[in-house]
Formats: sequence, structure tokens, C-alpha cells
Amino acid sequence: MNFLDYFQHYPDNIQQQVAQLISSNKLVDYFKNKYPTAHQLKSEKHLFEYTNRFKQRYLKNAPKLSSVGYKKQKDLVQNALGTHTFKRQQHGGKLKAKHEIAIAEQLKCAPEPLLKMLIIHELAHFKEKDHNKAFYQLCCHMEPDYHQLELDLRLFLVLQKQGLSFYDK
Ligand SMILES: [Zn+2]
Repeated sequence: MNFLDYFQHYPDNIQQQVAQLISSNKLVDYFKNKYPTAHQLKSEKHLFEYTNRFKQRYLKNAPKLSSVGYKKQKDLVQNALGTHTFKRQQHGGKLKAKHEIAIAEQLKCAPEPLLKMLIIHELAHFKEKDHNKAFYQLCCHMEPDYHQLELDLRLFLVLQKQGLSFYDK
């Protein structure tokens, strides 16, 4: 597969930098320098508490977060690193709304800022369904470095696909 597919919607100069980073085998160094360690949010309880802190801080009036968990995701390229599911369930005549966030299993062993970026992304879907301007503005409000982190997350996927991730050791 061509790793550059992950970066298709970025400007040419970014794509060139990415191609250079990959072809010169500098990706491991890039991550070792920038993100030396993995996050410690291995359990779903910790993951939930971590996510809910951001939710309480930035989206206090949004509906209650029901659960956050690591799940196998089928297509990682098509913005499907995480999902936000909104379910209405019939409970004894009462409608119960549930907001569930699923984080791709691949992020279980990853640098914390990248996990955080994905959580911010999924939380932003509480307010904006689509990936529009308002959506990204909200993401950047919660995490000013959002766009750089999203690029780094794509680079991280390349690192993993190449079998070079050192975060699970
Ligand atoms: Zn999304």
C-alpha cells in the first residue's frame, strides 16, 4: 500500500515532507524525539475518566457521555480512527439516549497527545456531526495544536504499519 494515501488532502509541501520522512527512515527518530513515551490509559475506566474531564471542561452542557472504549476499527484511513455513536434505546417505555465513543485499538499503545487528539475529535462530534469549519474550530478550541496532532497521528499509523512502533514495548 502507499502510505501517502493517508496524506492526500494535505498541501503539496506537507506531502513532500512526509514522503521525505518516510523514505529516509527518519520516522522512528521523529517520534522518539517528539513523543518519547506512551500514555498509561490502558483500562477503559481510566480512558473514560480522562475523556470525561475534557467533556466537563469544554462541553459541559452536552449530553452525558455513556462510555468510552477501545474497539477494533475496520478502516483507519477514512477518518475512522474513532467513532461516536448516538443510540436511542427503548427502556420500559422511556427513551434513553446513549453517547458512546470508540477509540481504535491501535491507539492503546500510543503517545498521549495523539490519543488526546482523537478524543477531542470524537467529543467535538457531540456538537457538530460533520467535519466542517465549525467542527475544526471546536477541535482547535479544545486543543490549539489539533491540526499538527492530526498529522502526527497519521504518521503514527505509518510507523505502526511499518512495524516500527516502539510504544508497546
Ligand atoms: Zn469525525
